[in-house]
Amino acid sequence: MRILVANDDGIHSPGIAALARVASRFGDVRVVAPDVEQSSASHAITASRPLTYRRASHIPNIEAWRVNGTPADCVALGVHNWKDVDICLSGINQGVNLGNAMWHSGTLAAAKQATLFGVRGIALSAPSSGPDGKDPDYEALAPHVERVLEILLTDSSARLLNVNLPLAPRGMTWTRQAVRHYDGRVVPGKDPMGRGHFWFTVAPLERTEPGTDLWAMERGYISITPLSLDLTDLPGLSRLAEEHPLDAPPVAEPSEAVEEDESS
Ligand code: MN
Repeated sequence: MRILVANDDGIHSPGIAALARVASRFGDVRVVAPDVEQSSASHAITASRPLTYRRASHIPNIEAWRVNGTPADCVALGVHNWKDVDICLSGINQGVNLGNAMWHSGTLAAAKQATLFGVRGIALSAPSSGPDGKDPDYEALAPHVERVLEILLTDSSARLLNVNLPLAPRGMTWTRQAVRHYDGRVVPGKDPMGRGHFWFTVAPLERTEPGTDLWAMERGYISITPLSLDLTDLPGLSRLAEEHPLDAPPVAEPSEAVEEDESS
């Protein structure tokens, strides 16, 4: 099995080395990651300048390449330069990617980019630091990551998955994305010269709904959310088409011809 490993924290993140080490128990691993941090880059691609693909050798026994681009760029180059990639893993991000934060996530974008190429994608995230304020203990997390991969690498029915791991998990559970609340906040402040500025930052949410990714993580469970790439609001489409009929009627169901054939 060919496993491409990407991230958005950059090639030097301890999280990507930890993920590559666990992944190497399941198949051949190649790391392709941004040369500098690209957190919150979401699904940006670099279309206005050329990209470079350079060897990195700091992860023992793992072939690694660094790209001067975004997480999505890394996956595009990774898939282009390594034929027949079976799966793309992204992470382990230093910081959780839950609920509406998924929209900003470069970690998830790398996995999404893989699915656009027909390759399964799994994003993995964990809190940014342990209770001591230092990097997470990835050695302690490794058996949990291995358990997640044992399930998700054997069952290929889900094409795109978002996994979040507490640093000391008490178990795992299937979840849905929390979409009711948004944790983004604009916080005004002053620079050292007294001039006003703003931080667009993240504030913890106060309420969570049962069954969601946020809810599971709050309770110490590893959260696994299968995701869909189709953003269409189907009830909204039906309602609008009925209330405002346009020049051509919408086709209710996707035709066989445009449906993806993933059986190969
Ligand atoms: Mn990140």
